[in-house]
Amino acid sequence: MSDGELGCGITWEAMLFAGRNRLYNLTFVVDRNNIQIDGTTEEVMPLEPLAAKFESFGLHVERCAGNSIRDFVTAIERAHGVSEKPTVILADTIPGYGVEFMEYDFRWHGMPPKAGGESNMAIDQIRTLGGKIRSEHE
Ligand SMILES: [Mg+2]
Repeated sequence: MSDGELGCGITWEAMLFAGRNRLYNLTFVVDRNNIQIDGTTEEVMPLEPLAAKFESFGLHVERCAGNSIRDFVTAIERAHGVSEKPTVILADTIPGYGVEFMEYDFRWHGMPPKAGGESNMAIDQIRTLGGKIRSEHE
């Protein structure tokens, strides 16, 4: 789920239910990118301290670098090892990761890049990892 969805009451209701009923085979994943459509989550609806809130609901919390596949897989493996509680993985992510002019900017949450210049620049940065490798499509 997105961190913006944590502003919705039903999300917390589901987590209360999961914690109360010890749904240990359930894993929530939160894309903690700190943005939503109208701005940063902390400006729109402050969420922190998220881990402490989830723990108070009876959930196990794993935190990882969400843009790292290795870290994310490790967090999932750890979640599978928890036997008495559901798990929440707080995946700290960088919104727009890999596209320099999009990173951390909430305006790109609901806006596509313009065809041509912006799109081409974004695709080039993603394909080349910011110029670190050559694109096969050049
Ligand atoms: Mg978000």
